[in-house]
Amino acid sequence: MSAAMLLAHHGIRALTVEHHRGTAIHPRAALISQRTMEVLRTVGLEGIVREQSETQFLQDGAIMAVETLAGKELAWFIANMNEGIRDVSPTIRLFITQKLLEPLMQRRALKLGADLRFATEMVSFEQDATGVRAVIRHRDTGETQNIRARYMIAADGARSGIREKLDIAMQGTGIFSKSITIYFRAPVGPLLRDRNLSVIYVYNPSVRGFFRIEKPYNTGFLVANTTGDMAHPNSDLWDLDHQQCEQLVRAGLGDDSVPIVVDDVMKWHGRADTAERYQVNRIFLAGDAAHCLPPYGGFNGNCGVQDAHNIAWKLAAVLKGHAGAGLVDTYAVERHPVGAFTAQQAYLRYVLREAKYLTTEGLPAMENDLNVELGYRYHSSAVIAEPDDDGRPHEHPRDAKGKPGSRAPHLWLEPNRSTLDLFGAKFALLGGPDAGDWLTATDALDVDAHKITNADFCDAYGITPQGAVLVRPDGFVAWRAKSSEANAHAALANALDHVLHRA
Ligand SMILES: Cc1cc2nc3c(=O)[nH]c(=O)nc-3n(C[C@H](O)[C@H](O)[C@H](O)COP(=O)(O)OP(=O)(O)OC[C@H]3O[C@@H](n4cnc5c(N)ncnc54)[C@H](O)[C@@H]3O)c2cc1C
Repeated sequence: MSAAMLLAHHGIRALTVEHHRGTAIHPRAALISQRTMEVLRTVGLEGIVREQSETQFLQDGAIMAVETLAGKELAWFIANMNEGIRDVSPTIRLFITQKLLEPLMQRRALKLGADLRFATEMVSFEQDATGVRAVIRHRDTGETQNIRARYMIAADGARSGIREKLDIAMQGTGIFSKSITIYFRAPVGPLLRDRNLSVIYVYNPSVRGFFRIEKPYNTGFLVANTTGDMAHPNSDLWDLDHQQCEQLVRAGLGDDSVPIVVDDVMKWHGRADTAERYQVNRIFLAGDAAHCLPPYGGFNGNCGVQDAHNIAWKLAAVLKGHAGAGLVDTYAVERHPVGAFTAQQAYLRYVLREAKYLTTEGLPAMENDLNVELGYRYHSSAVIAEPDDDGRPHEHPRDAKGKPGSRAPHLWLEPNRSTLDLFGAKFALLGGPDAGDWLTATDALDVDAHKITNADFCDAYGITPQGAVLVRPDGFVAWRAKSSEANAHAALANALDHVLHRA
């Protein structure tokens, strides 16, 4: 849905087929990162998403762990989802379920001109030197259609049939649990005891997993990963019946008097794996097809939205003839390391917060959530690195300071107008207060020029008042000139040619 919406935003005709008859019927993901909110802000959805999220969750909640919801508290990992992070973005982290978010994105995608076909499956595909040919079939009418496209995005989920057909292996931890999500109804409000809890890890001898509970606190789910002996647990829960699932919910709540109705149980694999390749010629893996992570940190769906955000502008630039075909190859170069890093960090959160039995020697360090959500850096030929570039794969967004390959920093330009609001369609050149030569250099280059007079701009973007920063349509810094140069127009034109793979 993200790819459909973002391609439509760039004016690209794309066809999206979805096996299901409509958008999500289960809540699934709910933690929406600031970066995803920034993408939604670009397409005009931030306001409605924030408004709708309030109907489901009290925002600014905590992530913590309990023995049982009624009983002992074990740890507070994050006291308030937005504490200490509001300055790095014009928007916030928030909770809204896929069930509520997807229809909002669908409506926006349709308004932007997307062609979305539900109850339609792709039954076969093949690619050649100039495009991809696919056969799609309507599930109800059985009607088939042959489709010819220049490119295909394989966003067909964790069990991706396209990935399998392309013979792409997964790399990482492999499957470590056969986990379940138990959707239930129960009046749990009193057990919350006025605590604003977004994610509640449960850790006791009967069950390990987490609760998420929706307003007005009569519905929610329990993710259960393991049961029994904590040191040698049972990690295959796929055979449990509804009654056993009810017992797990009860074991997590810790109150025998609460009536519980189990509505549905979803099965999924606990794993932290990335596809060994994100691209085979004209086909790109995105979302869960490209990376499968445990839902610890709330990273996986957000990472998928960022995959779509990265590939959409590149496809648009190539299809409109603004870029050379090689630009799309930078998708895999940029996104694969991010997928692998995000998988590693989600796995660490799972092991350290819940599955201590999986602890091994030499686990990597747990990085700040913001490094994962906003701080990953791209190193590819769609970026012009500086000679002293440290090549770091990620850093705290406050330290990025406009380095090529990092997300361009947020600064307020005026109330509710951020530097980030200057990006999203064309390339943008942001010049300091004395960068007149750079700003006029954009003439005839199809680049939006902005003189930024905010007192913090030069420091935030790592330039002098005479310098300028070239930002890609996805809000990542492509190139930077820290000061003035003799032939600004030629330097800028060269930078654009390089980044856009124009020979
Ligand atoms: C309990 C739980 C909590 C989570 N919480 C979070 C969270 O807080 N934050 C977060 O970021 N992520 C979270 N996630 C992860 C998030 O839900 C997924 O990463 C995200 O939904 C993946 O989206 P996707 O579009 O890549 O794949 P999917 O949602 O799996 O969509 C793939 C779609 O492709 C369709 N399809 C497959 N093959 C075909 C075909 N041949 N033809 C047509 N259609 C086809 C399928 O029907 C499916 O709808 C959570 C996951 C779980 C299980």
